[in-house]
Amino acid sequence: MRFVDAHTHLELMALQTVPFDRFSSVGELVEYLKSSEGEHILAWGWEERKLGRSPTREDLDAVDRPVLLLRMDAHLGVVNSKLVEDFGLRENELFDPEKGFLYENQLWELVEKLKPKGEKMKEALLGALKRAEKMGIVEIHDYVDPETANIYADLDGDLPIRVVLMPYYDGYREVMELFKGRRYENLYLGWVKVFVDGSVGARTAYLREPYEDRKGWRGRLFIGSKEISSIVRELEDAGLRISLHAIGDSALDECLRAFERSKPELSYHRIEHTILIDREQALRVKEFNILLCLQPNFKPFFRETYLKALGEDRYERCLPLKLLDSLGVDVIFGSDMMPFDPWYGFSYAKDLLGEKRAKYYYGGWRDEGRYI
Ligand SMILES: [Zn+2]
Repeated sequence: MRFVDAHTHLELMALQTVPFDRFSSVGELVEYLKSSEGEHILAWGWEERKLGRSPTREDLDAVDRPVLLLRMDAHLGVVNSKLVEDFGLRENELFDPEKGFLYENQLWELVEKLKPKGEKMKEALLGALKRAEKMGIVEIHDYVDPETANIYADLDGDLPIRVVLMPYYDGYREVMELFKGRRYENLYLGWVKVFVDGSVGARTAYLREPYEDRKGWRGRLFIGSKEISSIVRELEDAGLRISLHAIGDSALDECLRAFERSKPELSYHRIEHTILIDREQALRVKEFNILLCLQPNFKPFFRETYLKALGEDRYERCLPLKLLDSLGVDVIFGSDMMPFDPWYGFSYAKDLLGEKRAKYYYGGWRDEGRYI
């Protein structure tokens, strides 16, 4: 099997510092954290299902050093009072001081400051790439800031598989510089990431209908169609395409309005995730020559979270792979690190679409050289 994992965050592998799998309660997790070492604790990968509930600021206050724990989806993190004090965090839309919950941008800015740099990050990336190679992955599309992009550029001769860099919008110009007048063996410049909404787990994915378990709340729209369309134009002028993170159906509506406005000239701008896409939206996606990057793994992996947040009916409508396949919508698959193992999503997609189509979406695009 030759997979392309078209949506990864290998940086997160450098933050696998706590073995969350081992704990079946928040108490057990806290005991572990108390006995661990280091000036601060920054770790990724918890999930409330496994722990029984989400850890809170109060729980983590039992640890005498700053702690920041990212939920598996990396859209929600929890901090303790030590960290709140050290960084002078104040209550705002993206920080709930009572629970110690940090969301989206607020969270990523902190991770940026605390994450391992230089050699440590280099080691983590190389380790992850080798693991990818072992699983049969021949190419990844990895989301990066300029710092991580630089590490990849240094690693070029040693990269065991093809790496397509997906810069975040904030830093894309700097990442572009790395490709000016320089050719790499295994490194490519891909799409530029813009967040339109958040995640279902954090209840920040932007939905048409309210969440099942939060009355009247439809999630959060980070950026509207007008702004998206001007970014699309700006990127096209630079010969680049956009990768829009849009999980909810309303977020997708906003993206489609943006494409209607900007009338893209380049094919295969991307939309990531879009779990609640319906037939009408799918046809519009086709009309604009958009490439959808979907995560078949999300449906089995987040089953309980989705059922709770979206209800049974919407859960059933999630990720309509068969519909998209029958309409001939352009689709590629990526794990988004949940889990970082394409076999998990592949076996789910195979059951729905048959082996041949599942294989196609997991790698066929690369063979045809259609997107780069
Ligand atoms: Zn992602």
